Amino acid sequence: MRNVWQELSGLLLPVVCAGCGRPRTELCAACGAALLGGSARRVRPSPTPPGLPEVYAAAPYENAVRAVLLAHKERGALGLAGALGRALAGCVRAGTGRLGAAADPAGSPRAVAPLLLVPVPSARSATAARGHDPVRRIAVTAARELRRAGLPARVLPLLRQRRAVADQAGLGARQRRANLAGALELTAAGERLLRRGLLRHDRVILVDDLLTTGSTLAEAARAVGEGRGGDRELSVHGGCRAAVVAASPSAFEINRN
Ligand SMILES: [Zn+2]
Repeated sequence: MRNVWQELSGLLLPVVCAGCGRPRTELCAACGAALLGGSARRVRPSPTPPGLPEVYAAAPYENAVRAVLLAHKERGALGLAGALGRALAGCVRAGTGRLGAAADPAGSPRAVAPLLLVPVPSARSATAARGHDPVRRIAVTAARELRRAGLPARVLPLLRQRRAVADQAGLGARQRRANLAGALELTAAGERLLRRGLLRHDRVILVDDLLTTGSTLAEAARAVGEGRGGDRELSVHGGCRAAVVAASPSAFEINRN
């Protein structure tokens, strides 16, 4: 029902920029530049949770970028998925740049193992309330963008929530870690891929919309790496990377050291 109202209001309300409210465009040039204008960079929250993979982000989570992400996620402004996916694709390229280039030499007919974009799952209740899964949608547009640029990429939703997790808002870093410990697990399909050695750490990229404390991505990396049994033999630790559209401004400060 909510979707019907979202679609109707989309028809009835004048279109304005999700970032700044400028009329007659869903995303104006200035807000698009805030999202896509910088180069994707390595980010690291402080404190850094144990097990956090290398994370790359397109922009600080503030002002127009924050407004655009929220409009897509909470208000169903699905037309923004294209720009958000392009931003995420830039982060995936930054995280795998040399890999991607090395694996895909110009003109080589050799088959290349695709990059596997694994979205961090939302709670089923949140997805139902929003009427869509924003992270998965952004991941799909990012994969399309990467393929268009000649980099084979697929979205594989291989993680799910094992148990309900309390709302993270208002929790500190340590509390978030406790709240999330063991919260994610591989799906049955994910387990099969892991056992067959197909979740190669150098091809798996965890993707999410936002990095704050990093505890969600650390938990996702653990779940992707260990499988249900926590079997060290199967572990892909030491490895996978992560890409997010935006990160807390302080997480960008790593680059000033
Ligand atoms: Zn704008």
